[in-house]
Amino acid sequence: MPDNNRIWSADVVLVGAGIMSTTLAVILKELQPDLSVEIIERLPTEAQESTGPWNNAGTGHAANCELNYTPMSEDGSIDLAKALNVNAEFDISRQFWSYLVRKGAITSPDSFIHSVPHMSFVVGEDRAEFLRKRYTAMSAHHCYRGMEFSRDYSQIAEWAPLVMEGRDPREVVAATRMVTGTDVDYGALTSGMLNYLKSQDKFAVAFNQEVENLQRQANGEGWWLAVRDVKSGELRRVNARRVFLGAGGHALTLLQKSHIPEAEGYPNRRWQTFAAVWSLCRFLNEVLEEGLGTRPASFYPP
Ligand SMILES: Cc1cc2nc3c(=O)[nH]c(=O)nc-3n(C[C@H](O)[C@H](O)[C@H](O)COP(=O)(O)OP(=O)(O)OC[C@H]3O[C@@H](n4cnc5c(N)ncnc54)[C@H](O)[C@@H]3O)c2cc1C
Repeated sequence: MPDNNRIWSADVVLVGAGIMSTTLAVILKELQPDLSVEIIERLPTEAQESTGPWNNAGTGHAANCELNYTPMSEDGSIDLAKALNVNAEFDISRQFWSYLVRKGAITSPDSFIHSVPHMSFVVGEDRAEFLRKRYTAMSAHHCYRGMEFSRDYSQIAEWAPLVMEGRDPREVVAATRMVTGTDVDYGALTSGMLNYLKSQDKFAVAFNQEVENLQRQANGEGWWLAVRDVKSGELRRVNARRVFLGAGGHALTLLQKSHIPEAEGYPNRRWQTFAAVWSLCRFLNEVLEEGLGTRPASFYPP
């Protein structure tokens, strides 16, 4: 780590100001308000990469319409396990957001979530039959009560006019629709949560600052981060007890630089999602089990 005369410190440093880091920061501060938490972001503001509303589809993933969540088993039955898991997870997200709205942390649900029917659309007899089976299995479950299915051209045209425009009416088509689907603006949600965090003690967010390197401290207690101010070029050193890599696609580079054994062998896999999910789980376990908040308060520069 390069030497410099600006050493800052926090219990927890989260790299990146997207939906992942911001959500985790809110959870940590709700569970342990005296934790000192800093988010470090290389761009001038939050939610400019994948979390930005123009950079993702905005689907509130409740597995209403994603056909890959409901594979057909060898015996021809529909396997709902993954869909139910995703549905339950999204429900937990909504409960968390409801909690934040109720306590006034986020001004209004209207600022980030809206009802949008979720549809699956298929062409061809085999796929229409798969969709019918999927519909039968799903609509029998309370998570998907109210799901609609149709093979009727005019009905589907009413649901999705642009999809049906110009099609041959003799074509075999089928669709399902869930009117309880949602569209989520994860960028607005991130900004809302960040504003809430900014109102709290022992929270800081630093923009235009890029984490260039990280290194485990010799005593094994925490991490040193080398953080470059992208405008001035100045380097500072940050002392963190725990680090969360919420750096989206850049998380791999940082994960490799950390030299932790778990980072080995991941470059060729679907590591981005892994990095986020794995680090979130590991992180929460460690912080909550070890009770960081029982340590002396850390310090910030004046
Ligand atoms: C095309 C597309 C469509 C998608 N559609 C959906 C959808 O419909 N529904 C859904 O739920 N999800 C969807 N997703 C996935 C979702 O957008 C991402 O999972 C989510 O936004 C990831 O958030 P994040 O905070 O991990 O990463 P990001 O939002 O990418 O944030 C990472 C942040 O880290 C910063 N950063 C990177 N490196 C450093 C560094 N060294 N130092 C400091 N800061 C750094 C970046 O500038 C960035 O701000 C989609 C994704 C894509 C690409």
